[in-house]
Amino acid sequence: MRRAAARRKDAFFAKIEVQGLALTYADVRLKTGYSETSPADAALESKFSRRVPLKIPIVSAPMDRVTEYKMAIELAKHGGLGIIHTGLLPEKQAAFVTRVKLYLNAVIEKPICVKEGDSIGDIEKMREEQGWGFHSFPVVKDDGTLAGVLSGSDFEFCTDRSRKAAAVMTRTPVTAPAGTNLKAAFGIMLKRKKKFLPLVDKKGKLTGVYVFSDAKRVLLGGEESSRYNVDKEGHLRVGAAIGVGEGELARAELLASRGVDVLVLDTAHGDTPRALKMLKELKKRFPKTDVVAGNVSEGESAKRLADAGADGVKVGQGPGSICTTRIVAGIGCPQVTAVHNSEKALRGYGIPLCADGGIRYAGDIPVALGAGADSVMAGMLFAGTDEAPGEKVLVNGITYKDYRGMGSLGAMQQSRASRERYRQARPGKASYFPEGVEGLVPYRGAVGGVLLQLAEGLRRGMGYVGAKDIDELHAKADFHRLSEGAAEESHPHDVTITHEMPNYGTFQKEGI
Ligand code: IMP
Repeated sequence: MRRAAARRKDAFFAKIEVQGLALTYADVRLKTGYSETSPADAALESKFSRRVPLKIPIVSAPMDRVTEYKMAIELAKHGGLGIIHTGLLPEKQAAFVTRVKLYLNAVIEKPICVKEGDSIGDIEKMREEQGWGFHSFPVVKDDGTLAGVLSGSDFEFCTDRSRKAAAVMTRTPVTAPAGTNLKAAFGIMLKRKKKFLPLVDKKGKLTGVYVFSDAKRVLLGGEESSRYNVDKEGHLRVGAAIGVGEGELARAELLASRGVDVLVLDTAHGDTPRALKMLKELKKRFPKTDVVAGNVSEGESAKRLADAGADGVKVGQGPGSICTTRIVAGIGCPQVTAVHNSEKALRGYGIPLCADGGIRYAGDIPVALGAGADSVMAGMLFAGTDEAPGEKVLVNGITYKDYRGMGSLGAMQQSRASRERYRQARPGKASYFPEGVEGLVPYRGAVGGVLLQLAEGLRRGMGYVGAKDIDELHAKADFHRLSEGAAEESHPHDVTITHEMPNYGTFQKEGI
């Protein structure tokens, strides 16, 4: 991050400022230039916070219809990052962090077990009914201690289906102590030629199992795993949001104890004494965990967060698809100008900046980064995917998923964290002041497909600008301001679109 130097875009924004104007994504596009960068070679590595790198600069928003553990796992597997929302009890949010952290551990913490008295025929019937694709089972006693292991060969060589597991199983299987890590477990399985390794504690109780094929995939996964965003121990990276209200320090402590990579201090207005005090307290108590603070949309505010110790700053007040803040409260700076101003104010700090909200098209990502962001955060783009927690809804034969603002009535009625994000923590009060809406977004299938399109859009943009990496995009980015006619020209025009493209849907223009 070359933060200290002036950037090419500065002159453009200075001219806009003189006119008292502020711009957003639909108002600008990047200038193209001589390019030796082919999109396939553009490097997308960036940072979300000082110590949290990204392989693609894309982060999913901490919203109750966007990021729980499934979304966070997929984001990290594609090189990005998911931030688990705060509308959950701290224990549940922490359990989700653990699920992401252990995903690549290949350890199955609660394996399906059978009892000594179960017959081989009964177990096979269960296997069929439940659709279990595997043949290895720990056999446990009533008190949870390991009695033996049933393997595929035990089923194959057993000719009498009425025989009990106790009679067929291996009685003294190879085991490893509870807490054995992936590498050590893989070593034991290789050496002893075992495909299944139960973990037992000192009392002989089963605490989990490793499966050789999973362990191998994780450790030697090849090309796919090379794009995973993993920490030094090989676990997927994950973030979690916290608020500024009561009990949030305890929440932060629990999350930090589970190894969360970054805490996101998530408030609708990050430039307040309460938010700044919380930020300082977090930095004091958890020096090993990065804290990204926000949201702000003015340079001075970004600077105050940096001075208070933020490891990253999140910019965006009002650009979100579900957001009504600008309309109902009359405030906010259009997002591209907000990002530029914040980036300018943070020069010299070396603190990454995340452009949060308002991303509608893949092409908005190179624009956000060109304006000075190091990553983008999105909600709407991910809310329609399989991994988002929202419900599928069928309307006139088309499938949608529900999506809502954390400041919508529904979210605030349901969660204290949402009320606190919008400074309305008055339990029992019926008249909340919503700053968001509740609605539907088109169903988009697996999030992996969306992420591939978004990352490719960024690579293409960099190819046109001639930027081989994000640093070069920062240095070279310059903008054209679009007239109304230019904006119309940019979208498909004078044709009736008959096919949705994976990166351009008619719904984006027309709504649903
Ligand atoms: P989107 O990607 O345009 O859907 O914007 C997502 C972002 O909107 C989130 O990351 C939040 O910063 C912001 N946001 C979430 N809920 C609300 C709300 O209810 N009102 C205003 N902004 C919101």
